[in-house]
Amino acid sequence: MRVDILGIGFDNVTFDEAVDRGFELLCSDFPSYVVTPNSEIVYDSLSNSDYASILNKAGLVLPDGIGVIYASRILGRPLKQKVAGIDFAKALMKRMADSGKRLYLFGSKPGIAEAAAEKLTAEMPDLIICGCHDGYFTDDKPIIEDILQSGADCVFVCLGAPKQELWIRDHLHETGAKLMIGLGGSLDGYAGTVKRAPDIFIKLGLEWFYRLIKEPWRFKRMLRLPKFLWKAVMASFIERK
Ligand code: UDP
Repeated sequence: MRVDILGIGFDNVTFDEAVDRGFELLCSDFPSYVVTPNSEIVYDSLSNSDYASILNKAGLVLPDGIGVIYASRILGRPLKQKVAGIDFAKALMKRMADSGKRLYLFGSKPGIAEAAAEKLTAEMPDLIICGCHDGYFTDDKPIIEDILQSGADCVFVCLGAPKQELWIRDHLHETGAKLMIGLGGSLDGYAGTVKRAPDIFIKLGLEWFYRLIKEPWRFKRMLRLPKFLWKAVMASFIERK
């Protein structure tokens, strides 16, 4: 069941349900993709109907951010829980390791995907990472060819939003992979080049605040969070009329 938050239909799932569904998609015969919009992404989709449509056509739409959860409560249709893309993908990798599925890491600065692969396989020795490519490129073709040759079942596409969702839309049926997941800066997280907020910040719903302190240049971008919540308040008034 999907819950509409300002035009984006989010899957109302627990973390475990999300991982089960993600693995089902990975095992299916048809290529599909997962998106993990936060409030900034939903806010941007308000003025870009093509982008909203790409998000809504995903096989799984996960709320990656406390702002989306607050908005769902404001609108009176609360989502079960936040499902951060980086955690979701980690849990899915454990399933891939257990089942011999092949994973390709695509995105981030040169060397980061390889560093992430090294850390991830040290943690999960059975995980098959069949290829890596950085996210700074001019020609898509060699990357598509490399993914095809690698025999990847799943591709983590980590180019930031909206670039990653557009890339997935354009190339979903060209690589032979059954599942693509747009995961923003997750490879930086797995490689350890960007530190995640301590658990206490995550538990209190203040991961955004930690990120703001660590990466103050995000301030302008983050102004979309209060604007997004205000839109949710306005939408709830209009819906109640
Ligand atoms: N990135 C990339 N190619 C680009 C632009 C960005 O690979 O042309 C990468 C960037 O190096 C970073 C990620 O995309 O690893 C975006 O991270 P960010 O934290 O900004 O994304 P978010 O998760 O906030 O969408």
